[in-house]
Amino acid sequence: MAVVDVNTKLVGLLGNPLGHSFSPAMHNKAFETLGLNYFYLPIEVTAEDLPAVAAGIAKMNFAGYNITIPHKIRIMDCLDAIDPLALAIGAVNTVIVENGRTTGYNTDGEGFVQSLETETGIAVGGKCYLIIGAGGAARAIAMTLAFKGAEKIFLCNRTEQKAHDLAAEINTKVSPCSEVVAREPARIGAAVRQADVLINTTSVGMHPDEDRIPIDGDLIPNGLIVSDIVYNPARTKLLQVAEAKNGRIVPGLGMLVYQGAEAFRKWTGAEPPVDVMFEVVRALKG
Ligand code: NAP
Repeated sequence: MAVVDVNTKLVGLLGNPLGHSFSPAMHNKAFETLGLNYFYLPIEVTAEDLPAVAAGIAKMNFAGYNITIPHKIRIMDCLDAIDPLALAIGAVNTVIVENGRTTGYNTDGEGFVQSLETETGIAVGGKCYLIIGAGGAARAIAMTLAFKGAEKIFLCNRTEQKAHDLAAEINTKVSPCSEVVAREPARIGAAVRQADVLINTTSVGMHPDEDRIPIDGDLIPNGLIVSDIVYNPARTKLLQVAEAKNGRIVPGLGMLVYQGAEAFRKWTGAEPPVDVMFEVVRALKG
């Protein structure tokens, strides 16, 4: 247990209900590993109290905090400034407090990109992506890929209108690189053959529905890079199919760790011990 004293820099997680989160253990172990006098604590806060809590934190000994469900959008009204990428995504998951001034960021998409680049060795700019899903995680990933110079982003979602809305936002806010793919095998097949990377951002295949797969496995070309942001199970059915076809796979645990690593970097200015953070999360997942 870390010793907390008057010089300790606090970091928190604001959400409601908080339930189980890997973040406190992952960050506290990382602070301890680097010998940093920081402490991460979970703070359950209602929507009604969020503005008062955010204002109070800005006056206290906090380096910053994470925000989770259901406050990722509402917190934006409580901050002094918002980073352009978080503004385009429309949600904040990380806040930095500096001299009483708060700035909001979104590290989810950056976490995805760092995981993809580290685990495959590719650079994300100039590539073609097929993203399955158009929810909150898809927004963060697609906007970040567009900001980083993706050549093409195909979006395919069960509720097609949500894919159209997201594609229109990417095309107007960042660059005209996004196109909707209808949820029909022939259309998905054509897009996935053009794609350098296939990304599942839906919850399909998540425990306990581990036999489910977000697209027909027969449509996946040999040797494709396939990412699944679902991290329970660690190797989803989609990843197993891709691996059997000699694809390079990117499991979802990486996004979880790297989004935290990016927040850690912003709060401390130090290079996070990513291996230690992976170890903590793997141990907690069991
Ligand atoms: P969300 O905003 O609720 O979006 C859910 C997405 O999944 C939507 O596109 C939804 O389609 C689709 N979907 C859900 N059930 C489906 C089904 N039966 N068939 C087809 N599509 C279905 O959720 P989110 O925050 O984006 O999270 C999505 C998943 O990513 C979750 O499993 C979450 O645990 C995981 N995640 C992982 C990380 C990480 O760090 N690895 C980070 C964030 C999220 P509709 O629009 O048609 O409803």
